[in-house]
Amino acid sequence: AVAIRTFGLGRSYGSGETRIDALADVSVEFGQGRFTAIMGPSGSGKSTLLHCLAGLDRPTSGQVLLGDVDLTRLDEKALTHLRRDRVGFVFQAFNLVPTLTALENITLPLDLAGRKPDPAWLDVVLTTIGLQDRLRHKPAELSGGQQQRVACARALVSRPHVVFADEPTGNLDSRSSADVLGFLHRSVREFGQTVVMVTHDPTAAAYADRVLFLADGRLRSELIDPTAESVL
Ligand code: ADP
Ligand code: ADP
Repeated sequence: AVAIRTFGLGRSYGSGETRIDALADVSVEFGQGRFTAIMGPSGSGKSTLLHCLAGLDRPTSGQVLLGDVDLTRLDEKALTHLRRDRVGFVFQAFNLVPTLTALENITLPLDLAGRKPDPAWLDVVLTTIGLQDRLRHKPAELSGGQQQRVACARALVSRPHVVFADEPTGNLDSRSSADVLGFLHRSVREFGQTVVMVTHDPTAAAYADRVLFLADGRLRSELIDPTAESVL
């Protein structure tokens, strides 16, 4: 099954002589339960693509289908609901709420949506991030790697359709990076989570089963891991 796909996606800034095509004519599919990395030089359109996929930015042409919902047809209110209920985000800067404990940060998306956590699923997520003794600590009392694992757990807690990660290891040392990527990888392998990650780090991209390369806003090539169970 396809989790998310685009048709002729374009995103331009400005007009006339100063126009920049940050994305041009990107048509691509992301299979359910797959881990895709998006790579490319700085300014090649990686963040713009991720933001358009996640409903954080509006493309200027083309379509984005999340499941069977065309994001480009949703108004702001519907997009806000979709972001809250159907996608998860992990950012380079962790973006945890400093006044809440790790556990409160993790369950925050559910609290905001007025939903109760599924206890079995919450237990699986908490076991997988492996921070049992740190759940009552505030972010400032955790290492960078621990904070990012909390952010990953927060992204997964509502069992979203897709988790989007924007340079999730950009602020981490190599050991913490391995913890975070290992967690994302397990969420794909063991729970069938769909993950789309932007990175410029080849070590991080090696955790994905597919790597897309962007250059000048266009899809240039892709690498598929032949050992992944099924390939899109
Ligand atoms: P990457 O994530 O690969 O570094 P971006 O998606 O951030 O690339 O940017 C792609 C192109 O779009 C770049 O040329 C960038 O300067 C341009 N761009 C991105 N955001 C804006 C904006 N808000 N206004 C004008 N140009 C932008
Ligand atoms: P990680 O395994 O995430 O890389 P580190 O090796 O950085 O963690 O940290 C080792 C231990 O020190 C961890 O158990 C962590 O809780 C603690 N620690 C790291 N940074 C801080 C900090 N800024 N404040 C309090 N404790 C910290």
